[in-house]
This record gives sequence, C-alpha cells and structure tokens, in this order.
Amino acid sequence: MIREQREQILSEMGEAARKSGRQLSEIALMAVSKLHPYEEVLEAFGCGQRLFGENRVQEVQAKFPASLPEGMRLHLIGHLQTNKVRKILPLVQQIDSVDSLKLARKISDEAERSGLCMPVLLEYNTSGEESKSGFESPDELYRTLDVAADLGGIRIGGLMTIGPLGGSDDDLHRAFATLRELSERCRKRYPGLCFDTLSMGMSSDFAIAIEEGSTMVRIGTRLFGKRDYAK
Ligand SMILES: *Cc1c(COP(=O)(O)O)cnc(C)c1O
Repeated sequence: MIREQREQILSEMGEAARKSGRQLSEIALMAVSKLHPYEEVLEAFGCGQRLFGENRVQEVQAKFPASLPEGMRLHLIGHLQTNKVRKILPLVQQIDSVDSLKLARKISDEAERSGLCMPVLLEYNTSGEESKSGFESPDELYRTLDVAADLGGIRIGGLMTIGPLGGSDDDLHRAFATLRELSERCRKRYPGLCFDTLSMGMSSDFAIAIEEGSTMVRIGTRLFGKRDYAK
C-alpha cells in the first residue's frame, strides 16, 4: 500500500516537474508520518523513503527511537514552543517551522550550548489565515533575518509555507508564487544566506506547488492514508 502510493506520488511529482521544465531530482519528498505508528515509518523507509516530518514534539519523543536507522532524517514541521526547544534538538535533523525571532534565538542558544548548529527553515504565512503560524509580512521576515543571519547555532536553508486550505487552484498558485518570489527577494537581500529550499505542497496541492518552484513537498495522507485524530 505505502509502496504503491509512494510510486504514484513520485510519478505525479515527476509529471508536475516536467510540465514546468524541471526535474524530479530537484524535489525532495518528505513523508509526514504524524498520527501514524512507527511501523508505518519503517515500512516507508523499507521502500526507500528517507526524509520524514512530524509536527509535534511529544509525538516525536514517544514514537521515534533516540537514534534513527542509518540514513533516516527527521524534520519538525509544526509550531514549536520555546520551552520545548531543548527537548526536540537532539531528536531531529532540521526544524522547518521557525516562525519568530524569539524561537530562532532560542534554537540557536540551545544548539550552541550542545555544540551543534541546527538547520532551519523560516515559515511564512502565504494564505493570510490567522490560524496559521508563520511570518505575516516580508518586513517581519526581514527583521528576523537581519538578526538571525548572525546567530551561530542555526543555519538557514530556505522558506516553508502551508497553502490555503480548500483554496482554488488560483489561490494555491498565488500563495506558492508568493513564497517563491519572497525567496528570490531574500536571496538578493541576504547574499550570504542560503534560500535553496522552498518547502511547499501537501497531499492535495503538491503538483501546483512544484509548478511554482517547490523543492520539498510534505505528503501525509496520500502516502499513509487518513489520520485518526481520535487516537
Ligand atoms: C500534516 C502536515 C502535512 C501533510 O498534510 P497531508 O495533507 O496529509 O499531506 C504537511 N505539512 C504540515 C506542516 C503538516 O502539519
């Protein structure tokens, strides 16, 4: 089941890439395993899946072993409270949901204390939905980048967004184009920083995200099936 779904997703990713003159190899597939058991993570791993995403600190702690199988990479993709930073640092390889300067500072401080440098993405709210995390305006993002550029315990790798839920294709194109354009502006403004990663696109909108330049899609439902929130 997971194997077939994964093959199908990769094939659709390839199609969307070709449609926009890109190659599948430019786009990473992240398997979002939240609310699915570790056995399914291992099943996906057995099919060649290496990159996984989880959105809650507690679930990462409860579900994953302290040392991951060789080659497996795990990113935190959900909102992170500053008081949980210390707990999550040793458990993930990247934090894709940095949404404030305060959080960036906290991650950097804790990482430096542990003698490491944590790769991060900055989350931007492209949909304007208040329920979503993420920086709300370019200026707010720049104010954080001005400071975060000099933080020694984090390494910025790009931007992340969640598209408008239930949005039309036009809305989705607009949101993802906003992130791509913002990343291009960041590149010019901060030539010393890296903005190679554009993490955008989920089960229902990844093809559109790829057409707009996504380099990382985050797929849960299409890969693992529906999540049971009652659990
Ligand atoms: C749950 C989640 C996803 C995956 O969503 P699906 O629609 O199930 O593919 C992607 N990104 C984030 C930040 C998530 O929390």
